[in-house]
Amino acid sequence: MTPPDAPLLSVSGLCVRFPTAGGVVRAVEGVSFELRRGETLGLVGESGSGKSTTARAIVGLVPVAEGSVRLDGTELVGAPAALRRARPRLQMVFQDPYASLNPRMTVSSIVGEPLVVHRRVVGRAALDARVCRLLETVGLDASLRRRYPHEFSGGQRQRIGLARALALEPDVILLDEPVSALDVSVQAQVLNLLEDLRRRLGLTYLFIAHNLGVVRHVSDRIAVMYLGRLVEVASRDALFGAPLHPYTEALLSAVPVPDPVVEAARRRIPLDGEIPSPTATIAGCPFRSRCSKAFDRCATDAPALREHRPGQWAACHLPERS
Ligand code: SF4
Repeated sequence: MTPPDAPLLSVSGLCVRFPTAGGVVRAVEGVSFELRRGETLGLVGESGSGKSTTARAIVGLVPVAEGSVRLDGTELVGAPAALRRARPRLQMVFQDPYASLNPRMTVSSIVGEPLVVHRRVVGRAALDARVCRLLETVGLDASLRRRYPHEFSGGQRQRIGLARALALEPDVILLDEPVSALDVSVQAQVLNLLEDLRRRLGLTYLFIAHNLGVVRHVSDRIAVMYLGRLVEVASRDALFGAPLHPYTEALLSAVPVPDPVVEAARRRIPLDGEIPSPTATIAGCPFRSRCSKAFDRCATDAPALREHRPGQWAACHLPERS
């Protein structure tokens, strides 16, 4: 029996490696975090930092080289039967609502497919009723269910993707850049819907974005990734109020502030310098080549992710210096 305060999803020492002609790409290196029921963890970093690969590894879409993924205490890595049982509880929503929906299927078939595959309903009438309810849950007019994806706007297609993800009544939804392909005005609507669904349905989210501004309003905690590693994990307020890692500071400096006076006075921290090749063996801190605060030790010692303030973890030698 899992204790009530135990994490719903627990990821520990996760590594994903892809062999290529140029060497082994270390896409995810030793990533560890926990998700508690009802929580939203924002996972942020530049393109290629390993965020999406982390999510795909959790749901078994890419092979895990090392590490552990536990759902409600049950190990899923190297356990195909457990992963198959867990898959309905772990759903992914992808960035591109244009590419992730089969253009030849009606919305009704797209949303109803998981229910059919997992034999969750008996009979066409029951299936149709469930599909209608799911579409209404995400704010879509159920009378449009016989139409095809191309007849909907980007925001509506992302709602269709969400309805499909909700069909099997998941516990955790891994949202991979769910609003990045949408116009800013539509982004706000989808973010509001996600927050509303989380509260109403008791969902738990891993919310992936390349932009800290997007995750700010939806995350309880935020984890920052760089070159396949977590470099800072903290509550949203701690991360925005007093970031510990220079990479987090640089990402934050790029988030616009609504007040024009404050915005004009702000200094953007440039992310110059070369990013090491993902196939390279890195000595010292992986962020060193772009870090304006690097000092001698950074060249030789790789900083471990440590809790420098209560609940605020960072992989940087600086907090130990001050
Ligand atoms: Fe910069 Fe050094 Fe901290 Fe790495 S360990 S982020 S190089 S100060």
